[in-house]
Amino acid sequence: MTTTNKSKTKKYIFITGGVMSGVGKGVASSSIAKILQSRGIEVTSLKIDPYINVDAGTMNPTEHGEVFVLDDGTECDQDMGNYERFLDRDLSGTNYMTTGSVYKAVIERERSMGYGGKCVEVVPHIPLEVISRIDHAAAKANAEIVITEIGGTVGEYQNILFLEAVRMLKIKHPKDVLLVLVSYLPMMNEDNEPKTKPTQYAVRTLNGTGLQPDIIIARSRDPIDEKRKEKIAFNCNMREEDIISAPDVSNLYEIPVNFEKDELGDTILQKLSMRPRRKDMKEWRAFAERVRDAKEPVRVGIVGKYFSTGKFVLADSYLSVIESIKHASAHWGVKPELHWLDSERFEKGGAEGVKALEELAQYDGVIVPGGFGARGVEGKLAAIRYCREHKVPYFGLCYGMQLAVVEYARDMLGFKDANTTEINAKTKHPVIDILPEQKKLMAEQKYGATMRLGAYPAVLKKGTIAARAYGAEHISERHRHRYEVNPVYVKRLEKAGLVFSGQSPSRRLMEVAELPREVHPFFVGTQFHPELKSRPLRPNPLFREFMKAALERHRAEKASRA
Ligand code: GLN
Repeated sequence: MTTTNKSKTKKYIFITGGVMSGVGKGVASSSIAKILQSRGIEVTSLKIDPYINVDAGTMNPTEHGEVFVLDDGTECDQDMGNYERFLDRDLSGTNYMTTGSVYKAVIERERSMGYGGKCVEVVPHIPLEVISRIDHAAAKANAEIVITEIGGTVGEYQNILFLEAVRMLKIKHPKDVLLVLVSYLPMMNEDNEPKTKPTQYAVRTLNGTGLQPDIIIARSRDPIDEKRKEKIAFNCNMREEDIISAPDVSNLYEIPVNFEKDELGDTILQKLSMRPRRKDMKEWRAFAERVRDAKEPVRVGIVGKYFSTGKFVLADSYLSVIESIKHASAHWGVKPELHWLDSERFEKGGAEGVKALEELAQYDGVIVPGGFGARGVEGKLAAIRYCREHKVPYFGLCYGMQLAVVEYARDMLGFKDANTTEINAKTKHPVIDILPEQKKLMAEQKYGATMRLGAYPAVLKKGTIAARAYGAEHISERHRHRYEVNPVYVKRLEKAGLVFSGQSPSRRLMEVAELPREVHPFFVGTQFHPELKSRPLRPNPLFREFMKAALERHRAEKASRA
């Protein structure tokens, strides 16, 4: 591995969290990257996850939120998606590590005599591997500043070796390492003051690892006042101007703009002994304002099998879908209203089931996102049928595409038991089936990193909704699935009116299915996950067109009521 970036003096920023998890380290990290990038600085962002899993691919989304996928097929944390969205850059697996992946590499190197017979120890060899990976990612991106977010919270056992890596790096490059602590100031009730003591303890804990934060991002419900800054500064050996107030915001894209109000970019450059640079956040600010100021509501129903752990986990599991809707909405200047619809409601027979389905007419558009397993599938199929028959704009993402094909085969080809073999391996009509190579992997219980993962090309059929949306014939989108449209049924489905408007270059795999515009205003499903590459200023073309169809429905309904 390359360990030095010879062209420039490289600077390191580490982001770590205090007090509790979920305070928004990922967004803080992305926002810091954004404000530095907006000053013309070449940056790259890394995420370290402290768990033993080698990647995020084998984890249940209720455990870990959305599994994000990069071009190279790395299955990682959703923060990687935040970095890509804020920086508008495609990142690779080089920018992601877990305790598991670090240990695995060290152990494999030891097994091949890579340490030349030395005793390989937790310290220094694990932190050294971490540092070499950070350097490698920085060199690959030719970054002047490399920003690394350390998952977890200070004080827990899990991330101690990563903090040790920061300490070791700081000994070697005292002027080039900056440590940011994202902390939280709780409030006990409405008019109570934000409490600084937990942050003081977090800093003391950090001190115990040999580290002192250079900047504290003080998260809280409301902005924190001078008095609180003074308290933290005095008790934590810091300057007041290095305590940055970061209150809750409803629009996370405003955070870089807010950071700049506190001149955080200047502070960082000064601390890293870098010359000041002019910032240009015009486009970003305009985008953030469009998100904030949009008034015309567009109602999108998202049909899924939802998790009993509550609303928050649920939204986390579909983060990229939500963000893609926001990007497309900002493009049209509309305000998206998301409604989470439990697919099991559409499975109920009798009046209750019919009522649930009829309620779908209230939405301007419906999405069935990616998913796995049998629960709620019949409900999703019923919802898809309703949208197809009642011309409600429909967008199916991966599973949502596969199920649209199943529904079409059942209704339009009369194959009543058509299914995906994920649900019914014995169906007479396996219109969605597992690839033979996948079958073998499953038999051998090789589950980790073995799905069809990452970016694959697709060829789009001229004149279709997909080709017009992308304005291109050749596209590349990211995948994460094991099942595919069964080629045996393609001709029959096409004859019955379904258009496979996107296919793999070999034509073996179906990538996009749609209905012609004369038949339905927008009925599109993608085998890939278009949400993984949507960016604030470059919304994914299919999300953009879906939101346009939804907006048109909204306006038509409004006009018909007037
Ligand atoms: N369960 C389906 C498959 O494995 C779809 C996966 C998904 O939606 N990501 O092919």
